[in-house]
Amino acid sequence: MIEGVKQQKWWGWGEDGKSYSHHDKPKFAPFVKKMVGVDITAAVPPSPRFDDLEVPASQLGEGLRGELVAILGEEFVQTDDETRVVHAFGKGVRDLMRVRAGQLGRLPDVVLYPGSQAEVERLVDAVIAADGVLIPFGGGSNIVAALEAEPGETRQVVSVNLGRLSRVLEIDESSGLAHIQAGVFGPDMEDQLNAQGWTLGHHPDSFVWSTLGGWIATRSSGMQSDKYGDIADIVRGLTMVMPGQVLTLRPLPSSSSGPSVREMVLGSEGRLGIITSAWVNVHRLPEVRELQSYFFATYEDGLKACEQIMASDAAPMMARVSDAVETQYIMANGKKSSRIGSLSSKAIQKIMEAKGWDLEKIAMSFVGFEGSPTHVRYEKGLVSRIVKANGGISVGKGPGTLYDQKKYDTPYIRDFMLDRGLICDVSETTTPWAYAEQIHTNTVARFQKAMDEIGVRGVVFCHLSHSYHSGACQYFTFAIADDSENQMATYDVAKRVIQQSFMDNHGTVSHHHGVGEEHSPWMDQDISPAGVFIQRKLFDGVDPGHHLNPGKII
Ligand code: FAD
Repeated sequence: MIEGVKQQKWWGWGEDGKSYSHHDKPKFAPFVKKMVGVDITAAVPPSPRFDDLEVPASQLGEGLRGELVAILGEEFVQTDDETRVVHAFGKGVRDLMRVRAGQLGRLPDVVLYPGSQAEVERLVDAVIAADGVLIPFGGGSNIVAALEAEPGETRQVVSVNLGRLSRVLEIDESSGLAHIQAGVFGPDMEDQLNAQGWTLGHHPDSFVWSTLGGWIATRSSGMQSDKYGDIADIVRGLTMVMPGQVLTLRPLPSSSSGPSVREMVLGSEGRLGIITSAWVNVHRLPEVRELQSYFFATYEDGLKACEQIMASDAAPMMARVSDAVETQYIMANGKKSSRIGSLSSKAIQKIMEAKGWDLEKIAMSFVGFEGSPTHVRYEKGLVSRIVKANGGISVGKGPGTLYDQKKYDTPYIRDFMLDRGLICDVSETTTPWAYAEQIHTNTVARFQKAMDEIGVRGVVFCHLSHSYHSGACQYFTFAIADDSENQMATYDVAKRVIQQSFMDNHGTVSHHHGVGEEHSPWMDQDISPAGVFIQRKLFDGVDPGHHLNPGKII
């Protein structure tokens, strides 16, 4: 490992030694048992051991190695087994299943850690001249297979870790813009900005283990996007190293200089070059930040309320509502001592029952407010009226505050579940408001039907996560109880029916996780064959030798 560059554990999420625990959550084990029939309290095998893996040798030739060492220095040209394995995958559940099973595929032959843009320029040219393959690496948190070399790749594969490029270079206070290096991780970037009174406002669930460059290359979206925008809105200019040249896009609020090159780079997943820095919109830290919690009788009521909030003068930084099963999950996953854990407390239950609600169908919602105290009060008043008009009730700040504090620990639950033979994953999409209910109902039904047909227990739940003028993103989480040798095939069926349901119900292949290899089969349906034709011409034109992360997107 390189000093100062964070690295996730090779077989799972985040840092070694940190894991999910269901202790002090007495309702969680019964919830899982009821939903998928698995006893999560049973003993599990120990964590996978790196020494049990058979790691193929690096195929880096002495010629290229010598040139890379001359550019970067010995320390920043790494070929050890663990570094190569960590850089071979993202953190999709398919990645985790394969790496745990020792199915390593085509690993990178070397991992480079450039410390300046000039070094990136030199290494790109050296690798292309040696007919190698270049794969930029941010935090390795993507879940769409966006980092893997193609199976059977015979050329030398070079992973470029941007982690040493981690500085906020400049803040233009009068324009509200910051120039930031692409390899910075979320917390480090916010620390640097906050120290000067600014924030980016981009908080994906993977914030702790993902980077600015990765967010741009995958078209990421954070949980506060209703106020701050998706990364596509936030990034105003950037620098990208391409073979033999450097793309420089100055930060501009808007421009009509032909088809947007900035938009071509957004979501390009390393296929056009290596992003080294970006100019981004930054905002003054808000005086007040508050998450309020609400309940609705049904998810459909909650969806209507979110749509109306979006159309109102209230502009909260987030409005989120969970369907009935996800609401049960959140309440079961709350600590015994917490307000989430006790939300089914007698007093609240009584109010719900008095309203004639079926407690199995209730939908929990969090709405986030930011700004001056007067502004927050005004917005809360508007939202409160909309919630009431849709039959909802407010349960105050407690549960939202707790959710806010714990949100970055949630990803550890996937490793905990995999240890117990439960495959957990997510798929997300957007539709116009007109189809929001339909896509939810049909996707849940199709998933359940597919699991019934195979004869395995599975559960799927969903929340609305990001809202726009014309529609919203819905984020589905699914868990399947299958620890048999057919695990991967079962997962494939689940993933396929969910993605196809998105296509058949006016959705997109992905709102914010990108394409990689995972979503590539749906691109024709998503953007039409002509759209794929344009993308292919773009990638082939920029990179005729297919040196830049080949095989991703299309
Ligand atoms: P990586 O995974 O390292 O790379 C992703 C792709 O970008 C690869 O193709 C890579 O080659 C390319 N790339 C990386 N850096 C550069 C660069 N500097 N120049 C050119 N190409 C580059 N995503 C969201 O948007 N919102 C969420 O809330 C969210 N939550 C998640 C929660 C979990 C538990 C997990 C596992 C993932 C989540 N993701 C989320 C997905 C993932 O975090 C995002 O796709 C993120 O943007 C990837 O960033 P990264 O730095 O980890 O990139």
